[in-house]
Amino acid sequence: MDQDELRLQAHTLGFDLVGIAPASAFPAVPPWTQSVIVLAMAALDPAWDLELYLEQGGVQRWSKWMYERLVAGAARLALNLIAAGHRAQPLTYENSLALLDLKKAAVLAGLGVRGLNNLILTRTFGPRVRFGAVFTDLWLPPAEPVHDYYCVSCSLCLAACPTGALLPTGFDRSRCLAEFEPDAAMIALQKERLHFPTPHTRFQCAACITACPIGKRLPTRFWLYPST
Ligand code: SF4
Ligand code: SF4
Repeated sequence: MDQDELRLQAHTLGFDLVGIAPASAFPAVPPWTQSVIVLAMAALDPAWDLELYLEQGGVQRWSKWMYERLVAGAARLALNLIAAGHRAQPLTYENSLALLDLKKAAVLAGLGVRGLNNLILTRTFGPRVRFGAVFTDLWLPPAEPVHDYYCVSCSLCLAACPTGALLPTGFDRSRCLAEFEPDAAMIALQKERLHFPTPHTRFQCAACITACPIGKRLPTRFWLYPST
């Protein structure tokens, strides 16, 4: 399988962006990995940030609908690679933090740059994307990182953050409502600040995404409905 075939398969599976990062930049990936395929799906509707509260095998967690879709698509792509004779393993959200810094991988894969909102800003969608990855022993030419810089004379995300997690000096993870492993104080703050349409669903904070002007004006092919 070459890079063009891989891109075609990824797009067929619903991924909007695909890039290759060098495995050498990530010491914790499986030792046979030659390439880290970084995949992104556009999240153009807040519904993609809806989270469901799941209890599976004694583990309780909030699960973002978009992440379930990303993991399923990455697993399908990994199976296609295996069927073509390669080794491949999808990133899951159980192994992700230990194996790979996804934001670093997205930058090395040429998909975007890190913005002041601590998210990856892509040319087409700005920060309105979510990332997944597949490890493979197939060598693919790594991308050239892009050197765009958008956060010039802009601080809209800093002003939009409801908890002061975004500061001119950097990102304070302990104050972010989207923290994956919240302590008791953060859980209380999430209950106070997030919108819970039902007891087992909630919309995660996306203020630093919706405030960002980058990618707000999408090409017409991404419009969901005709403009009126
Ligand atoms: S997700 Fe919300 S709380 Fe976290 S940095 Fe963005 S705006 Fe601030
Ligand atoms: S809102 Fe402005 S400062 Fe924040 S990430 Fe977007 S461009 Fe950068």
